Amino acid sequence: MIRFRRFQRFRGFERFRGFRAAGRRSLLFACAGVVAGVVTVAAGSAQAPAASASDLVADLVAANRILVMEGVLDGMGHVSARDPRVPGGFLLARSMAPELVTAGDILEYGANGEPIDARGRTSYLERFIHSEIYRVRPDVQAIVHCHTPSLIPFAASDVPVRAMYHMAAFVAEGVPVFDIRKAGGVTDLLVRDAPLGRALAKTLGARSAALMRGHGAVVVASSIPNVVGRSVYLDINARAQMQALALGGRLTYVEPDEAKLRMADPNEYSRAWDLWKQKLR
Ligand SMILES: [Zn+2]
Repeated sequence: MIRFRRFQRFRGFERFRGFRAAGRRSLLFACAGVVAGVVTVAAGSAQAPAASASDLVADLVAANRILVMEGVLDGMGHVSARDPRVPGGFLLARSMAPELVTAGDILEYGANGEPIDARGRTSYLERFIHSEIYRVRPDVQAIVHCHTPSLIPFAASDVPVRAMYHMAAFVAEGVPVFDIRKAGGVTDLLVRDAPLGRALAKTLGARSAALMRGHGAVVVASSIPNVVGRSVYLDINARAQMQALALGGRLTYVEPDEAKLRMADPNEYSRAWDLWKQKLR
């Protein structure tokens, strides 16, 4: 199967400096090299992260599969990474089940949420979730949109998600609920245009996650490993909170000042990320 070696972390991105592959699936990952021929990071840019485009594509493919493996995504949902070469641009798979995403399925998008060179490949309807958040959150480098079952009850309830433990410390910032009806009236609940994306980004504000009533959630972070980690542990946190609420009694959650200290680690999920990638082999 797939073997990655010589990991190096740089500016928040897990960097694959080389990979060895065997078997049919390896050919799919090897397409990262082909994509890299199109997605070449501008040399000499003071702002561009040093991670190459093929690193980003490989991490994005891994993120898709990890999120399915960990139960965050199923046949739906998506994960993107900011494209360091294009202001407001991002990388996102074509419209397909996340578990099946390979490097050749990753498309480049402009700041307007439209693919730059789709060549007949269809896009996710809800790509405007990504474009509009990247537009107003320069700190965000990766975004997950999910329909994780544990989050749906909280998106419907006025009981807020609260931080249960250190692994989901970011929850202590607050997790607002986006009600699409307030932004767009009666809709099919999908964020299928830029104005709805902007409304969602406004609800998210400066936070790390927002729930979406009758739909799911969006999670953002400074890197692909961190957005995957936050998505996985937001799910675990929600399930733990349900259990705690069922226990009854007075609950004591992680407080914002405690969470702030925990969140000072920029690579808080790096060990888990390494493990998840190993499991993909
Ligand atoms: Zn959705």
